[in-house]
Amino acid sequence: HRDRLRSIAGLRAVTPDGKEIELAANISSLKELEVALRAGAMGVGLFRTEFLYMDRNRFPEEEEQFEVYKAVAERLNGSPLIIRTLDIGGDKQLDYFEVGNEENPFLGYRAIRISLDRKDLFKTQLRAILRASAFGSVKVMYPLISSVEEVRAAKAVLEEVKAELKREGKAFDGGIENGIMIELPAAVSIADFLAEEVDFFSIGTNDLVQFALAVDRMNERISHLYQPFHPAVLRMLRSTVEAAKSKGIHVGVCGELAGDPRALPLWLSLDVDELSMSSHAILPIKERLLCTTRRDSRELLNRLEACRTAQELIGELEAYKQTVD
Ligand code: PEP
Ligand code: MG
Repeated sequence: HRDRLRSIAGLRAVTPDGKEIELAANISSLKELEVALRAGAMGVGLFRTEFLYMDRNRFPEEEEQFEVYKAVAERLNGSPLIIRTLDIGGDKQLDYFEVGNEENPFLGYRAIRISLDRKDLFKTQLRAILRASAFGSVKVMYPLISSVEEVRAAKAVLEEVKAELKREGKAFDGGIENGIMIELPAAVSIADFLAEEVDFFSIGTNDLVQFALAVDRMNERISHLYQPFHPAVLRMLRSTVEAAKSKGIHVGVCGELAGDPRALPLWLSLDVDELSMSSHAILPIKERLLCTTRRDSRELLNRLEACRTAQELIGELEAYKQTVD
């Protein structure tokens, strides 16, 4: 089976009835990119930059960040690279950055909130990302967006940084694409408004499930309540993808659910453009994609939407899987 998986690494990721999906990788370092490329990743849908910050005892300088982003962009040789700006807070802390004791760190000072509060840090990172954009197909993505104001504020800082680099005569892609993670229920509700502000969405199911169901994704005791196939989540996924489609922007998924084989028919029926996942999931998902028709998937969506519980929904997906095998 391993050989069979390896043999499909170079094939196009397309269903028997012609729907192509971009299968990309989630990475957090250049080393992880090598693993992803061996698995046939067609790009990077999520570069988690936190590790660049966590590996040190101080904030990484512009030059240090630039070197890493540039190396990843070059290695990708023109394939898309989505770099997510710093997403610390919640479960990810920096020893050298005291945020104080918070009662609810997942609802606290984190991610884009820190970036917009600490423009110095944000600008340093955006400068490095923009400079790397001269070496590949780089896009920038903001995490934990909850409002139109936040997106506009982030974009304004990006424009400021572009102007600075221009004055300094530094090369960058002036048309760099901006995107946001859709990982809060509020973002789902106003996805149509948000879609007017950006070039793409990437749905972060890890946090979306956590916030939709009010279930801490790290808490073992309630892990049985963490249900990515909850009907409420399905509705959120659907309305997000529909909002993106109606405004004509690209929509991908980068949470763990993207690499769950049970969910593939769902992504096909929703017609997402991209699935970004851990490298080890890419080939198994591709193998399934090569033999899953989208036409059947659409019938499936109607059945899924009639499910009242996560168990029923998983049952439908499992049954579908068996008809494919
Ligand atoms: C997510 O929330 O789904 C996601 C991809 O981001 P992270 O797991 O880094 O929070
Ligand atoms: Mg997240």
